[in-house]
Parts: sequence; structure tokens; C-alpha cells
Amino acid sequence: MIITAFTVENIPLIKAGDDIALIIIEKAKLKEHDIVVVSSTIVSKSEGRIISLEKVNATDKAKLIAKKNNTDPRFVQAVIDESQEILLVSPFLLVRIKNGSICVNAGIDHSNVEGSNNILLLPEDPDKSALELKKSIFEYTGKKVSVMITDTNGRAFRIGQTGAAVGCAGIRPTRDWRGTKDLFGRILEVKNEAVADEIAGFANILMGEGNGGTPVVIIRDLGLYHESDGIKELLRPEKEDVIRNALLKYRSI
Ligand code: GDP
Ligand code: MN
Ligand code: MN
Repeated sequence: MIITAFTVENIPLIKAGDDIALIIIEKAKLKEHDIVVVSSTIVSKSEGRIISLEKVNATDKAKLIAKKNNTDPRFVQAVIDESQEILLVSPFLLVRIKNGSICVNAGIDHSNVEGSNNILLLPEDPDKSALELKKSIFEYTGKKVSVMITDTNGRAFRIGQTGAAVGCAGIRPTRDWRGTKDLFGRILEVKNEAVADEIAGFANILMGEGNGGTPVVIIRDLGLYHESDGIKELLRPEKEDVIRNALLKYRSI
């Protein structure tokens, strides 16, 4: 199997209100069923999700956590404001954000954001953002593509960060092998492959983390196009999430 993956070059610095779909289709000739992988950073910028720390008022709780973790109380407050649940307070904040994903610091970024006091929140509803991008690309080009919005995340248990899918449209985030046979005829019972994160991880290699200026990657010929409902099926149901439940049990605040 041969696939193609490439970065879209000459994307400008994105500002609030920019039409990312238009920018992409002007700079890349898309094909039917391409997977258009877009870094959450530029989606957030286009949605005006930059806030200045100067405008954040830290509560006593945020001040307490900030002291513990030796960080800025206003940053802690911004993380709390984006969260529905805190799973770990120290040495860093691990939270469940409003769309249900669990991540460090609510996915809030300092890097690749203009202005030293500015921080960038994740898109408010990344699945919705992905669906809107997909629809706009269809309106501009008549092409049905998959859209994936990614972020770089750390992982439990292992050193190093990888790309992770935070929202998607036009692709099933998992590929279910359960009920199929292995090489020796044994029925697979648990394998449900998180293809969205695998694609995000690969695209992230091409995007880079620094000043590459390549927030969009196109992946072609993977054959995974599917009308679908976004990232939600990647999130563990509360009862089954034993690690979340253990963290909640021992949480110190
Ligand atoms: P994240 O993984 O979504 O948090 O985004 P990163 O900060 O790691 O950036 C991913 C890629 O997008 C890097 O190549 C950055 O240089 C690039 N990037 C970030 N913001 C912009 C932007 O506004 N315009 C362009 N052209 N590239 C950007
Ligand atoms: Mn990020
Ligand atoms: Mn990144």
C-alpha cells in the first residue's frame, strides 16, 4: 500500500476571522477523500481563542495551585475555566475539558502565539470546527474530504509527545477489528484501532513543533473516508476509565 502525505506551504500567520478552508484550497489541490489534517493552533487562532493573561482574574484556588506548581495563577485560572473536572493538581494540571477530552493544562498553548502575555485555548468544539471546515471545503471545491484537527500531547507512561486528534469529521476515529480473524483463524476480541490518533501522530511529524509554519498536512490514498460524528467515540465512558477514576479518588484538592 502506498500513501502520500505532504505539507501545505505558504500558509500565513492566522488571525481571528481568517477563512482557513479558503486558505487551504488556494494553496493545495485537494482530491476526493483526502484527509486534511489541521493543527488546532491555527483553528483556535481563526476562532479568536487567544486571551491575554492580563484579563484573567485568578481565584484563591488558582493561586493555591499556582504556588504548588510554581506557575502563573492566571494561567491556572484559564485552565480551570476551560475544564469540567480536575484529575491531577500537581506537579501539573491534568483536566477534563468541556468536550470531554482529558489533557494537561486544558491544551492551552504559549508556543507559536504572538505576544508574551497571550495564551491560546483549544477550539471550543473541535468536532464542530472540523465539520465546518469539511463543509466549507466542499462548498469551495465540490470535494468530499476528511478533516482532522490535531494537537501535540504528552502521554501517560511514556516520555515524549505525539500528535493526537482533538476533533474530526468525515472519518471514523477508530477502526474496529473485533470479530475479524488473525493469521491463525483466532477471532480478535479487543482490537479497536485508534486510527485518528495514528493519523494525527504521523501528520505531526510533518508539521513539526517549532517555526516550520506548516500547520496543514494532506494525507492521500488511505481509504478511510466515512461520514461520521467526530471524536467522541475515542473518549472512554466514565465507568470504564479506571485511571481517571483512580486519579479522582486520590486527588488532593
Ligand atoms: P499544535 O500542535 O496544534 O499545538 O501546534 P504547534 O504550535 O505545534 O504548531 C504546529 C505547526 O504549525 C508548526 O509548524 C508551526 O510553525 C505552525 N504554525 C502555528 N501557527 C501558525 C500560523 O499561524 N501560521 C502558520 N503558517 N503556521 C503556524
Ligand atoms: Mn498545542
Ligand atoms: Mn504541535
